[in-house]
Amino acid sequence: MSRIVYLNGQYLPEEEASVSIFDRGFVMGDAVYEVTSILDGKILEFEGHIARLNRSLSELEITCDITPEEWLEIHRELIARNDLVEGMIYLQVSRGNAGDRDFHYPPAGTPPTVVLYTQSKPGLADDPKAKKGITVISVPDLRWHRRDIKTVQLLYASMVKMAAEKAGKNDAWFVEDGFVTEGSSNNVYIVKNGKIITRQLSNDILHGITRASLLKYAAESQMEVEERLFTIEEAQGADEAFYTSASAFVMPVVEVDGVAVGSGKPGPVATRLREIYLEESRKAAI
Ligand code: PMP
Repeated sequence: MSRIVYLNGQYLPEEEASVSIFDRGFVMGDAVYEVTSILDGKILEFEGHIARLNRSLSELEITCDITPEEWLEIHRELIARNDLVEGMIYLQVSRGNAGDRDFHYPPAGTPPTVVLYTQSKPGLADDPKAKKGITVISVPDLRWHRRDIKTVQLLYASMVKMAAEKAGKNDAWFVEDGFVTEGSSNNVYIVKNGKIITRQLSNDILHGITRASLLKYAAESQMEVEERLFTIEEAQGADEAFYTSASAFVMPVVEVDGVAVGSGKPGPVATRLREIYLEESRKAAI
């Protein structure tokens, strides 16, 4: 059975949903996106993702007048029409069809292209990798310097994921000026003597929605958090490491550039934070 997707106000079978070859998203990577997780048929972190979407749109001056209530209705309609229980909803807004290719933005009033679709992932919250932990390589951070805007320009992230796979590892961490920025599609953390250390927010990293909630839950659980830079060497000498993202929640990292972190197994802090995150975000899901 084909999926029902959303395109510019319509719910369509995926085969019938098509976008212009002149679309700025296609030609220029001129589009922003969000991914939300669905557990028990409910949306996790909805408000945070929509707030970040609106910020990305406004930073790029893309006009899209869909309200948070309308976004919610579209998400819920897609969940219902596709019987989605566990998985993700992908949302993308591009600057729309500009007609001829041109570096300049199209005239005001050009409608954006709005696409949403579901991805069913039964067992999303029970990923066996969370029990084993994952391995990462480090790579230079060659991305542009507005990583706070969630654009669809993900080629370098794809390249480094392929490089990790070729090296027999699960993922890659970006390093810039000697310090870890973030993972290829996640925010990263180390734990030393019980303290959680993660890079502070700036335009150098995406302001993860999962990160914001995780730090709140950590503080509520009396865990100590320090937002500062750290190096690969410090990560290798840490007691634990982990990453967060909307679709992986909290994922233990047990090896960095071939060196085991701590015991080389998921540690108690990452394991506990994963439990807390899943419990709290399920409770708050809408
Ligand atoms: N950093 C990058 C580069 C990402 O692609 C993602 C996932 N979209 C994140 C961090 C984590 O953000 P979130 O928790 O909002 O999914």
